[in-house]
Order: sequence, then C-alpha cells, then structure tokens
Amino acid sequence: MSADVVLPVPADESPDTEIDHIGPSSPPTHALAKAPVATPQHSVDAFVKVFLQELNTGQGVTLSRSTVNDQYLALARTVRQYLMTRWLETSRHYAESGSKAIGYLSAEYLLGRQLGNALLATDLGEVAEEAMRGCGLDLARLRAQEVEPGLGNGGLGRLAACFVDSLATMGIPCIGYGIRYEYGIFKQSFVDGRQVEQPDPWLALGNPWEFPHPEASVQVNFGGHTETYDDGGVQRTRWVPDWNVVGVPYNYMVPGYHNGKVNTLRLWSAKATNAFDLALFNSGDYPEAVRAQTFAENITKVLYPEDSTPQGRELRLQQQYFFVACSIRDFIERVLGPDFDLHQLPERIIFQLNDTHPVIAVPELMRILVDERHFEWDEAWQITKQCFAYTCHTLLPEALEVWPTELLGRLLPRHLEIIRRINADFLDEVRASFPGDEQRVRNMSIISDDPNSSVRMAFLATVAGTKVNGVAELHSQLLADKVLHDFDELWPEKFTNVTNGITPRRFICLANPWLSELISDTLGVGWVTDLERLAELEPYAQDPDFRRAFREVKQKAKVHASDILRARDGIELPPGHLVDIMIKRLHEYKRQTLKLLHVVSLYEQVLSGEITASQLQPRTVIFGAKAAPGYWMAKEIIHLINAVGSVINTDPRLEGRLKIAFPANYNVTLAERLIPAADLSEQISLAGLEASGTGNMKLALNGALTIGTDDGANVEIRRLVGDENFFLFGLSEPEVAALRDSGYRPRQYYESNPQLRAALDLISSGIFSNGNREAFAPIVSSLLNEDRFMVLADFQSYMEAQLRVREAFADEEEWTKKAILNVARCGFFSSDRAMGDYLREIWHASAI
Ligand SMILES: *Cc1c(COP(=O)(O)O)cnc(C)c1O
Repeated sequence: MSADVVLPVPADESPDTEIDHIGPSSPPTHALAKAPVATPQHSVDAFVKVFLQELNTGQGVTLSRSTVNDQYLALARTVRQYLMTRWLETSRHYAESGSKAIGYLSAEYLLGRQLGNALLATDLGEVAEEAMRGCGLDLARLRAQEVEPGLGNGGLGRLAACFVDSLATMGIPCIGYGIRYEYGIFKQSFVDGRQVEQPDPWLALGNPWEFPHPEASVQVNFGGHTETYDDGGVQRTRWVPDWNVVGVPYNYMVPGYHNGKVNTLRLWSAKATNAFDLALFNSGDYPEAVRAQTFAENITKVLYPEDSTPQGRELRLQQQYFFVACSIRDFIERVLGPDFDLHQLPERIIFQLNDTHPVIAVPELMRILVDERHFEWDEAWQITKQCFAYTCHTLLPEALEVWPTELLGRLLPRHLEIIRRINADFLDEVRASFPGDEQRVRNMSIISDDPNSSVRMAFLATVAGTKVNGVAELHSQLLADKVLHDFDELWPEKFTNVTNGITPRRFICLANPWLSELISDTLGVGWVTDLERLAELEPYAQDPDFRRAFREVKQKAKVHASDILRARDGIELPPGHLVDIMIKRLHEYKRQTLKLLHVVSLYEQVLSGEITASQLQPRTVIFGAKAAPGYWMAKEIIHLINAVGSVINTDPRLEGRLKIAFPANYNVTLAERLIPAADLSEQISLAGLEASGTGNMKLALNGALTIGTDDGANVEIRRLVGDENFFLFGLSEPEVAALRDSGYRPRQYYESNPQLRAALDLISSGIFSNGNREAFAPIVSSLLNEDRFMVLADFQSYMEAQLRVREAFADEEEWTKKAILNVARCGFFSSDRAMGDYLREIWHASAI
C-alpha cells in the first residue's frame, strides 16, 4: 500500500521550472530549448486546426460527439496556445532584466470570465468567431459556458483584477499572489423573495486557465512554540511548529492588451503534507487517517463571503498566513533564487498589501530575515519597511481587522513575538516624538487591550508600510484626519492617495462593443490604452449625428441586457423606460433602502391619488446585490426589495410605468451585461463611508449619469463631469459628522415629512407582505430608531434630485449631451492611470 502513496516533493528538491520564472535560470544547452514553440498563425484555418486538435487530443472527442463543455474547453486551450509563447517570453524578459517587480498581495481576485478577455488581448475575436462558425458552432454560446472565477466579494477583489490587467497592459513586472478557493463567492438565488446561498463549485467542469505546479510547492507551518538557542555566542530564536500544510501554486495568465506581454497570477491551494497517516490507515481507522488531510485542505476550500465585516475566525487567519507565507517564500526562493543577497531585496520587490488581509506578511518576512537568514533585527526591519506598502479600503470601524493575541499566539507564536517587538520599538519612537503623551502611546499601540488583547492589523500595516494610501481623495483625507490621524501626525509623508480605477478592456471593450466601436470610429483605436483620449469626444456632444449614434449604442445595450435578463431570470425590461441601476453588495451604508423608499413613495403617491400613473416617468429600477450570509438585516432588505417588486410589477394601477427588476446572483458577468444599458447610476452611500466605489466609474464610462452623494470617488466624478452633468444630493461628510455630534433623531424626519411617513407607513401596512404587518417591522424600526446611515435625513434631498433626473431625462437631446460628456470626461478613471500613480508615488518601478 505504501508504494502507492505519493508525497508532494519538498520545494528545495524540486527541479527548476522554466514557466513563468522571473529569477535567474541556467542557460539551455539544446538549441531548440532557447525559444518556446511558435505561436499558431493568426488565421481562421490555423485556428480551426488547433481547435480540432484540442478537441481530439485534449478532450478525447470528435467535433460531432462533443458537448458544449468540450467545445468551450478546447476553445479556451486554443486561445491559450496563442498566449503561451508570449507568457514564456515575458517571464524570460523579466528574469533577464533583473528589474523591480510588484508583488500584489490580495486575498481576493474577482476576475470575471477569462475567454473573452483572452480573445480581446490577442485580437483573436473575429478569427475565433469565424472559426467556430466554420465548425458549425456559436462563439457566444461557448463563451456562455464559462463559469466565472468568483474569487472575491466585490469592489476590493475586482480592483485587484483590474490592477493586474493594467500592469500586464503596461508591461510592468508583476506577480499577483492570492488564494485558489475551491468554492468562490456563493451563488445567490431567491426563494419567496429571500436570498438562498448555494456553493459555487466553479472548478467542477474543468478549468482550462490554470497551470498547477506541484513541484514548486511550499511548506507552511502553524502552531507549536518558540525556543531560544545559542548560535556561537548569538542568542537566536526558532519556531518549533506542530503542524504544517503544503501550498501548491496554480499559475494563471494575465494577458496584456495587444502588447505581446503576459503576466502571472499565482494562486495557492492547500494540500495535506502527508497523504494520510499510514499507521492509522493500516490499523483500519480510515476516517481518522484522512482527517488531517481534510483539515489541511479546508484552508483554501471556500472564500469568506463577508464584505466590510470580518468575522475574525481562525480559518480566516489560516488562509491569510497560508497564502502570504507561500508567496513570500516563492518570491525569495524561486523567483530570486537561493544565491540572492537579501540586502538587495527592496531593489527587486515591493509587496502591495490589498487591505489588511495580507499584513501577516510583515512579521513573516522579519522571521525569515532574522531567524532563518540571521540578519540583525534593525537591519531586517530596515529592509522589511521598504518592501511593503499598504492600501486601506474602508472607513467603517467594524471593518478594521483585529486578531486576538490569544489566537495569533496559538497559531503563529513566533509572529506574535515579532509583532510585540515591532510594537515596542515603534512605541519608543512615539514616546521620543511626543514625550509624556502616554494616552497617544496607548491609542497608537499595534496591540490593544481594549476590551481584550488584540492586534490591530491596520496599525501594523501603517507602521510597516513605506506608504499608506486611501482609494479616493475624500477617503485618503479622512484616513489621515480621522482613522489614522495619530499616524499622520507622526509620519505625514507616509500618507498618500491613489484614486481607484477600472480596466477599460473589460468594462468598455468587452462589456460594450457598441460603444467601443463608436469611439474607435470617431477617435481611432488608441483610446483603449490611453483613456484620457476620451476627452476628444467632448466636441461631439454638440453633434446631432453623433448623439443619434450614441443613443443607438445605448438602445442596443438595452436590448442586449433585456435578452440576457429574459433568458437568465425571466425578467422583461419594458422598452422606452429610463434604466435606473443600483448594483453593488447589499450593505446598510450603501443604502439600498433609500432607493427602495423612492420607489415605494412613487407607488404610494399613485395609490393616494397625489399623482396619476400617467404622470410617472417610465422607469425600471434594476437592483443587483448579494448579502453576506450572516448579515441578517441585509437579507431582510433583499426580501423587502423583492416583496415591493412583486407587488408593484403586477399592479395595473401603475400602468407598467414603474418596475423593479432584481436578477439574482449579481457577479462580474452580469455587471458587464447591465452597465452598458444604464441611464442612471445610483451611488447613494452616506457621505464618508464609501471609500471609493468603482461601480460608479464603470457606469459613468458607459454613459450613465450619476445620482450620488458627495462620497468616495463620486466627488472626483462630479468635479470632472461638472455639476450640470451629475445629480448631487444629501448631506456632506462634515454635515454628517455635525448631525451625529448634535444627536441624530431619525424619527423627527418621519414626523415632519408626510411623504416619507406615507412611504414607511405603506411598508408597515402589510401591503408588501400579504397583510402581515410585522414582516418588515425590523427594517422600519431600525430606520426610525437608529438609522445608523441617515437614510431618513437624506430622503427629501434624494427625492428632489430624482425630480431633477426626471426633468432632465425628458429632454432626450440634452440628456444625451450629458451622457456623452460623462464618457468624455471620465478617462481619468482608467486603472492604467491608477497604476501609473502607484508606480510613481509608491512603487518606484517602471516598465522594462
Ligand atoms: C465593480 C463591482 C463591484 C463594486 O461595486 P461598487 O458599486 O463600487 O460597490 C462589486 N461587484 C462586482 C461584480 C463588480 O463588478
């Protein structure tokens, strides 16, 4: 039996792979080894040939006997062949240049489907379409077969995906490091209007985009204790762990757009160190023998579906340390190689911490330098400090990650010691700068005792990072002024802003081929990698022919979205409606309830006879939102949206002029379908709480006008597009702070605003719940009694802004002008620009 057990090869005994290797490799001896195999030709015939070969030899079927899944997999592998040479070449080029790379550390990558993006990057779209037609197949149908890798929750994970796309397109050496969750973000469906979660087995039908490299596996330790020993007169510490797992890297291609570059995303999967305990197995205790394996492999089993509210569970900390330990060891030992002098580490890498999830990388690098490589502490700290930068993504206090020292010490005892020492040295620095100010020292301590001893990960990241950035101007300001104010006073030069961006490849070219074509016909093709060139569209806002063409684009997108919603959800989008879109995670601070109150109020106004249905502006409100499974209130709000939808969508008194559409399972693929169809973009968070938003950028760049608060990147969108092309409403951040300080009383708004009272009373009446007056009482009561996010305070202002929308939309030509100007003035929001900012301000790296 033992002969059959295959043990993973330890990293240091494994052969060097050629694939995607940034570091030095020994020169090839055989002439053919020097160049990778040639890329197939860019012709329909060549493409068909490779495709049929892939069907036969890859899938083991003939075309006539193949399933759609066979065809999709063969097609993906065909496109892969066109990328492979470039991937190998890019790796070789980076390795030979010895230049500085970006290690993007992110627990989430919300990638979206890969096939379309690979076809776009290689400019093979038309060839593939014709080739498939030649085989009697429909490219769109094969593309629809792909299950998107949902390895992220929302904005933060999607941002990471946009960033690696931009870096590849800009030819910047970058490895994206993350976790290969076996189950991504849950699949959402609705049963009686309530959210039901199902697992997302995205790998079940095969994943043609990944390349596992078990020979490059890394061992990761956990638990145990530390001990000190004498090393020739030097006191040293070592960690004696008591269990471990193996991390297996899976490489993904990140193709640059039309530039022949392909970067790497390296996602780690956990495996048990030993297949199973042979002694136990032989003794007949089979379940116990495989228990350890199951335990180890749980680490990368599933994405935590929380957004903004970390749960602080042990498995989550295991995930964080697991992927970070794998990534750092991978970079140091495999990319740089065993002979590399780590004194030079900051010249070769900067690790960007995407939020606090990977911050445990800081003590891990210290541990490697001090315990394993025997650096002096101070020297190790000097190096470590230069190798990290930190992006903060929130302002919600409950979203700031903290780990109990008890848990950290149990799982990672050496890391806790290192954090304590970092903290002690840091607090000495604080004392030196602010003598006698012990309150400040307590406030700034990485380890807090309030209420229980815990490690504040954002503080650790701030102390260790060369730079700390927020993700939009307002957010960066609030970070420096409030959340991390003491740190800003100590090190003002550390704090900076990089406003987020989105990739125009996915969110304009792929999502909106009609708009892309119009822009390219007008400006030529260069805008895709130089999005500020959209400014050249500005004069066309005055051109009636261009405006007509622009409206045709929007119309095509609406028809397409409508076809998708009909097929996917059985939802009909009525023609001629204003398409009003609110798509984002369901969270109270984002205020889906405010949007819903607008709809309920319009309904109530018709029911009460205040307005007639014919006075309603025809409008469909589309929601897309998942709620974290443990976030009870968010799930109640989903239930209410569906309940209101099912009543108003079928009430003949509205004459079909007001609709709610709530397709289930909002994800990147659905975002790509809906965004081009939007007339109005809802960005209505309470001011001071949305760090940036990126949905706002995607929608504006697709010609939707924003109705929004002065929050996150809305501030910059409004400044760029102009007040007259943006519907601003609501309290500003300082007004929110002032209202909170003066004692916010939501019930006052209910009592003094008849329209608001009527809307809330209509919900309480039971009309949306078959007469059950209690069904939505928790939502109403939370609004009336706490209203943490000041929905009631902003209601009136929101209603008035919606009247301005209604008026503006009635003038088709003027509305089109505004929409065109939104596109023309939002080129700033390309993630290429954001990457340029990081490169200049934080990373000090460049293209090679
Ligand atoms: C862009 C995007 C988000 C982020 O949306 P916000 O409105 O910025 O919160 C979330 N989910 C998906 C699928 C996205 O594409």
